[in-house]
Amino acid sequence: MTPVVPFVSEASADERQAWRDALPEALKDIAIVKPFEDLTADEREDATVAIVANPDPAKVAALRNLVWVQSLWAGVERLTAELPSEGPAIVRLTDPQMAETMSEAVLAWTFYLHRDMPRYQAQQRRKVWQGHDLRLPKERTVGVLGLGKLGGASALRLKDNGFNVLGWSRSAKALTGIACYHGADGLRTVLQKSDILVLLMPLTADTRGMIGSAELGDCKDGASLINFARGPILDDAALLHALDKGPLSHAVLDVFDEEPLPASHPFWDHDKVTVLPHISAPTITSTASRIVALNIGGYFADGTVPPSVDRSRGY
Ligand code: NAP
Repeated sequence: MTPVVPFVSEASADERQAWRDALPEALKDIAIVKPFEDLTADEREDATVAIVANPDPAKVAALRNLVWVQSLWAGVERLTAELPSEGPAIVRLTDPQMAETMSEAVLAWTFYLHRDMPRYQAQQRRKVWQGHDLRLPKERTVGVLGLGKLGGASALRLKDNGFNVLGWSRSAKALTGIACYHGADGLRTVLQKSDILVLLMPLTADTRGMIGSAELGDCKDGASLINFARGPILDDAALLHALDKGPLSHAVLDVFDEEPLPASHPFWDHDKVTVLPHISAPTITSTASRIVALNIGGYFADGTVPPSVDRSRGY
């Protein structure tokens, strides 16, 4: 009998509809995907794997025999906070297309900063005709904090485009052509050497508030920052201070403590801040559905649960 896989989601109606179209098609030879609300009591009881996107934890708990859940997002900080640690294993979405899309975004916004676009935009508003010295990519050091699926791909793409790239992660890493650092001393080195910093670590108990006034104070004069990770990793007040009083010259922010960013937030009108509405690497339903189908197909074929989040590390 074809197994039933619950889809548990409180995402927006549009997002849920997109998944309800894409998932059944991708899993059609593997399982029947059913919204949680449509499950019979037996189907709830029989489910050992569910697909989740912003799920109500009570609904996940109502599936008492779950072995694992497949998240449709790459960031799983809400799931790790809301699902009990003795609950089902959490498998996050790791999609090579997402790494490609994120590395494209990192490259695009690094070039935006590298080619002084905020400065020329500000000059245009004042009708100022004034060129500034051109620096070559190899003269620009970009520090990537977080060297996982997304940070690693981004660091390599920056290197391929001629930038001098430094990387930092929790454990020691080796990436060809990239000077890799780890630990507290490693972070200080990367902060002190980088002209552009890219945040791409997950939000965990360790990284929450990790980039605050001391870390921003370690940055180079005139350095700029891109946060494509999660808002709470970066301290808003410390960032505003570093932009207003130095050393930072500009910040490109795609993620915030509260999303959408409230209309009253000072970032909206700040000359040195570029606000993006969490668009650097959205989940792409077509490619993500194929990854989900591969994972769930493998599980039903031989019981393999894909690599899951280490609950003690939080990622
Ligand atoms: P990942 O593969 O799990 O990699 C995480 C990286 O961060 C690893 O290199 C890890 O170090 C490092 N790290 C974790 N905790 C650390 C700590 N305390 N100190 C130093 N480094 C630490 O994650 P990913 O797939 O690259 O995704 C990263 C994050 O991007 C996601 O969690 C999500 O929040 C965010 N994201 C944003 C968007 C967007 O549109 N803005 C889209 C997708 C994802 P080790 O290598 O030593 O483990």
